[in-house]
Amino acid sequence: MPLKKRVEKAITEVNAKRAFEHIKNLASFGSRVAGTEGDLKSIKYMSEQFVKAGLKVEYDVFNAPSFIEKEAKVLLSYPSKKEIKVRAMLYSVSTSSEGVKGELVYANLCKEEDFMKIDAKEKIVMFSRTKDKDAFYEEVANAAKNGAKAVIMVDYNPWIFTATMESGYFDIKKRFLPVEPNPIPAVTINSEDGRYLLEQIAKGKVEATLVVDVTSEEKETKNVRAIIEGGRKADEKILVIAHRDTANTPGANDNASGLATLIELAQILPEYRLNRSVELIAMGAEEELGSLGSYNYCKIHKDELDKVKAVINVDMVAVGSKLKVITEGLWPDKGRLETSKEINRLLIEEANRIGYFVEYGICPFATSDEGRFIDAGVSASWLWKPDDPYYHSTEDTPDKVNPNDIKAVCEIVKNAVIKLANM
Ligand SMILES: [Zn+2]
Repeated sequence: MPLKKRVEKAITEVNAKRAFEHIKNLASFGSRVAGTEGDLKSIKYMSEQFVKAGLKVEYDVFNAPSFIEKEAKVLLSYPSKKEIKVRAMLYSVSTSSEGVKGELVYANLCKEEDFMKIDAKEKIVMFSRTKDKDAFYEEVANAAKNGAKAVIMVDYNPWIFTATMESGYFDIKKRFLPVEPNPIPAVTINSEDGRYLLEQIAKGKVEATLVVDVTSEEKETKNVRAIIEGGRKADEKILVIAHRDTANTPGANDNASGLATLIELAQILPEYRLNRSVELIAMGAEEELGSLGSYNYCKIHKDELDKVKAVINVDMVAVGSKLKVITEGLWPDKGRLETSKEINRLLIEEANRIGYFVEYGICPFATSDEGRFIDAGVSASWLWKPDDPYYHSTEDTPDKVNPNDIKAVCEIVKNAVIKLANM
């Protein structure tokens, strides 16, 4: 007897090639810091993709501190003339158009005790970035307190890390702290230029001019929410979230990889039976104030938060080695924030079931968007590849991305969401 062919409705498959096109498009918008041109373009892009998939789109509108870098440079003037490539630290102040001129002095890690050994008065202070550190309020404040005119941070990678002058605290009110006696400009350089400058300093006096032209002002941004209406429990929700903004970088992995995941899911999930509603959210302003977009989601939808049954955050999933389900994050002023054991287990189970390798991991220095949900009492989890060497650098470009990683993540999240929406 001939085998009966199984007749199934054709289901749209995750397409890595298509996902990669979305990553390339999003990374071409330039900096996507909240409120910038690139951010606006990405709001439009995500909205269009969701509408094209036939989904209803809604927005959470809120203000965020924007940052536009028009120019930043260091010009070495003595003993030789040379321009050093730099990036302004996010929320650095500008200099005058002539810039700030001064002698360079090295202050190790820019800790309070480092200033016991050097005279930083009226000088431009150089310091080395502490491994995995993102926020440098303390270092810049120490330099200012000890009389420095400006700050240059040297990264340990041969590319430029785009640091922030935020404090690195979870408490939003403590994110921006005063720099006394007055704010000073701060830039970052790569390891090679850092080594060159330090060699020059070791030989004798080195003079440079630092020019920074930036604008920092409050601007409007949005969470873009695509809604797949549930069947029998439409008022209960499962959220899949990915932040849209960048840290003044092209943001191919961080986090166009998450956005491409949302776009693929927008095309595939509506073909399945879902009892609970599913929201796919391109969050704004994650890189600021410890996930400002999620903070605002929890504030705006406060009365419906008990209807949010699960949140899966997809942030940085296409560069690095192994994909991890993050069990906890850590903030200096908040301590550990644990993700949901149930969602974590489900993600691992679903990955195992369809033959993908995923393991548990932690984030030792912060949380991503899921942190604000956990803090608001909502069960949430985070999928992350922790070892992207180009993290928050100008090198976070599409050529580093592995498109097939998106396919794996989409399939794992798709299966987990179908379970969560129907259990
Ligand atoms: Zn990110």
